[in-house]
Amino acid sequence: MSKELNITPISKWGFNFKTPLIMAGPCSAESEEQMHETAKQISKYNIDILRAGIWKPRTRPNSFEGIGSVGLKWLKDASFDNKVPCAVEVANVKHVYEALRSGIDILWIGARTTVNPFAVQEICDALQGVDIPVLVKNPINPDLELWIGAFERLNRAGITKLAALHRGFSTHEQSKYRNIPRWNIPIELKRRYPQLAIICDPSHICGNRELLKEVAQTALDIGFDGIHLESHINPDKALSDAQQQLTPSAFGELIASLVVRENIDQNPEAENQLDTLRSRIDSLDKYLLEVLSERMDIVREIGEYKREHNLAIVQPSRWNEIVQTRMDMGTRKALTEKFIAELFHAIHKESIHHQTEVMQQNEKKPAISENGTKK
Ligand code: PEP
Ligand code: MN
Repeated sequence: MSKELNITPISKWGFNFKTPLIMAGPCSAESEEQMHETAKQISKYNIDILRAGIWKPRTRPNSFEGIGSVGLKWLKDASFDNKVPCAVEVANVKHVYEALRSGIDILWIGARTTVNPFAVQEICDALQGVDIPVLVKNPINPDLELWIGAFERLNRAGITKLAALHRGFSTHEQSKYRNIPRWNIPIELKRRYPQLAIICDPSHICGNRELLKEVAQTALDIGFDGIHLESHINPDKALSDAQQQLTPSAFGELIASLVVRENIDQNPEAENQLDTLRSRIDSLDKYLLEVLSERMDIVREIGEYKREHNLAIVQPSRWNEIVQTRMDMGTRKALTEKFIAELFHAIHKESIHHQTEVMQQNEKKPAISENGTKK
C-alpha cells in the first residue's frame, strides 16, 4: 500500500536553508507596518522562511479571518527587503492563483485543508505544472494516511519539492496542549519517507508561550529537520493566536537556546560507539522474543487444560493479580505504569488468542453431554 513519493530534498530547493531550518513570522499579516517590522526584527536571527497568514481558517466566524490579498504584497516586500523566502497558506484555487501572481516562494496547506481530499485535489489541479515548494500540515485528526494522501496528490500534480509541517492533532480531551503532538505519527511518516523533511510547529501544538521551548527541543531531539514559530512585534495585541506568538526578541532567545542534535549518518565515531550498544539491544530483543514465545507455550498448555476441563479462558481474578504484581515489579524497575499496563494488555491479548485457538482445535468435548446432563 505504501507508494513511493518522489521528493526533492529541501537542500535542493535552491534556498540555502540551514539545518535545522527555521520558519517564522506572524500568525497573520495585519498591517504593512506590522509585517515589515516583524520581518525585519526576526530576520536578525537568521530565519530561513518568512511566514504570514493572509487568509485565516478560523474555527469561529466572528474572529479575524485574515487581511486578504492586499497583504500578499506586504509579505513579498518584507521577504525581498530581508532576503528571506516567504510562505503563505493556501486553502483554495483563488488563494493559489493570487499567491502565485504575487511571487510567493513557498505555499503551505493548512491542517483544516489537508483533512479534506476534495480541497487538496483542487489545489493540486491549480498547481499542475507549477514548480513551487509546498509544505503540508498534518490533518487536524490523527490520520497518517490522509497526510500521506496529500503528498501523493501533490506528487501526481508534478510537485516534488515537498516537506511536512507537524502542528499536532485536535482533541476533545483535557490536555496541556492546544493540539496534542502524538509524536509517533510524524515519526512513522519519517520512517516511511526518510527523504521527506519534517518541520515541527510548536506554536500551533502549544497554543501558549510556556511550552514552546520544550516542544521545539523535543522535535530536535527526535531529529526533525526544522522548527516553525509564530512571532509578532506586539503579540498581546495580535489579531489571531495572541497567546502563542513570541516577541521577536523572545523568539531569538528561544532559537538560541535550542540544542541541535547531530545526524548520526554524518558522525562515524558515534555510529561505532552506538553499534556496540545496538548489538546488545539486538540480542536482548531476541531474548525477549524467546521468553515471550516460551510464555505462550505455557499459555497453550494451560489452554489445553482449560479445554479438557471446560474452564473459561479469562479468569478475572487471575488477570487482576497479574496486572497488580507486574505493576509493582515493573515500577520498581523504573518502567512507567502506562508502559507496563500497555505491555501486559498486549501480552494478555496474545495469550487469549492462543488459548482460543487451542480451544477451537480438536473441539471434541461438548459442554453438554448427549443425554443433556452438564459435564
Ligand atoms: C497557521 O499556521 O497560522 C495555521 C492556521 O495553522 P494550522 O493550519 O496548523 O491550524
Ligand atoms: Mn496561527
